[in-house]
Amino acid sequence: MTVSRTAGVVIVGGGVTGASLAFHLASAGVRDVLVLERAALASGGSGWSVGIIRQLYPTPETSRMVRRSLTVFQRFGEAVGGDAGFVPCGALIGVSPAMRPALARSVASQRALGIRAEILDPADAARVEPRIDTRALGAVLWEPESGYGDPSAVTMGFAEAATRRGARIEQGVEVTAIRRSGDRVTGIETARGERIEAPVVVNAAGLWSPRLARLAGVELPIVIGRHPVFVIERDPAFGRPHPVYLDLAGGSYVRPETGGLTLTGSLTDDETKHPMDPDRLGGDVGLDEAEAVLALTSRALPGLADARYRRGWAGAFDITPDWMPILDESPLRGFWIAAGMSGHGFKLSPAVGETLAALITGATPPVDPAPFRFGRFGTPATPGTFVSSYLR
Ligand SMILES: Cc1cc2nc3c(=O)[nH]c(=O)nc-3n(C[C@H](O)[C@H](O)[C@H](O)COP(=O)(O)OP(=O)(O)OC[C@H]3O[C@@H](n4cnc5c(N)ncnc54)[C@H](O)[C@@H]3O)c2cc1C
Repeated sequence: MTVSRTAGVVIVGGGVTGASLAFHLASAGVRDVLVLERAALASGGSGWSVGIIRQLYPTPETSRMVRRSLTVFQRFGEAVGGDAGFVPCGALIGVSPAMRPALARSVASQRALGIRAEILDPADAARVEPRIDTRALGAVLWEPESGYGDPSAVTMGFAEAATRRGARIEQGVEVTAIRRSGDRVTGIETARGERIEAPVVVNAAGLWSPRLARLAGVELPIVIGRHPVFVIERDPAFGRPHPVYLDLAGGSYVRPETGGLTLTGSLTDDETKHPMDPDRLGGDVGLDEAEAVLALTSRALPGLADARYRRGWAGAFDITPDWMPILDESPLRGFWIAAGMSGHGFKLSPAVGETLAALITGATPPVDPAPFRFGRFGTPATPGTFVSSYLR
């Protein structure tokens, strides 16, 4: 093993998180940013993501982050460069009668932060989308500016913009060891037998982040939980595409795709109860699990009952106990964590990169980083599922 080179910051992982961070560090003038990706850019969770951009969040920090991120997606070409594939088709979020008071509280505080959202009585939801079944709902939230984007394209956009600002991005390079001296990180080793010295190493390895952290002797409170996605072909009689619809009461979501397709999945499963080996990402799904989800989908949007099942894949989330990311330095000085995105790392990616870049460089972060601290899980976490990242 020879010391082949040095870097100012090594970012491990070329998903949307690592690419956004590289862009923001390079934009802040940090020299010698090196991204190492063991396979190809966006080949991890980012490449298998559904790409929904909704804005309903229960805390001021996540609300601010999604707001900042949305403004980047809206003008990605000028702000970063490239095309985010952002489709502002709007998002509807259906809640049960019991959830309505929590929704009203969240939306009141979100509006004060500039988020455009309107609570509709179930009967009025037809004004936006007459095809959803509102009978079991207590309210429907309408976010006219939300929609979906293309996580692979956003990863590429950030990566290319980072490269233009001097960062280096290397694909096909796996980090196999993290070097330390006492309580400080000193660099990494790669499967190619290289040693790279760096005072700052960032774990942006997404679904592999616990594995990578263990190389540094750091345990992350992150579970890799399975989240299957299904693709259906809408019947031509369904007509124009539907908006994004998240049925928090019934437990399913849909987002339109080009070619008359719809992506759908469950919001009732607790992914933490279904741990998955991340190397099985993109693998097959069973017809029985597809049928169970499609039953929920057609209850939410009955016109989709005539859709044809096309395919599915096994996705996964890197989930923390409170379903919020970890954006902080670990107890090993210089070894930073940008992981635990808990199923919302795409829509938050611009602000996640911006926040962590500020923390690493000692600048003032755009949001209070306290809710994303490494050590916040010292006390038992509040139990919850993915829906707890919408409403509390
Ligand atoms: C099915 C599914 C649906 C989703 N839907 C949404 C959604 O609708 N909206 C939303 O906002 N978010 C969604 N997400 C979540 C979001 O896509 C992820 O949080 C985000 O893409 C994670 O990006 P990342 O860069 O943190 O991780 P990843 O994309 O997993 O990137 C990590 C990278 O690290 C690399 N790596 C790992 N180990 C090493 C190593 N030792 N050396 C070098 N490289 C390494 C991997 O190859 C990988 O490319 C979804 C995710 C999935 C899987």
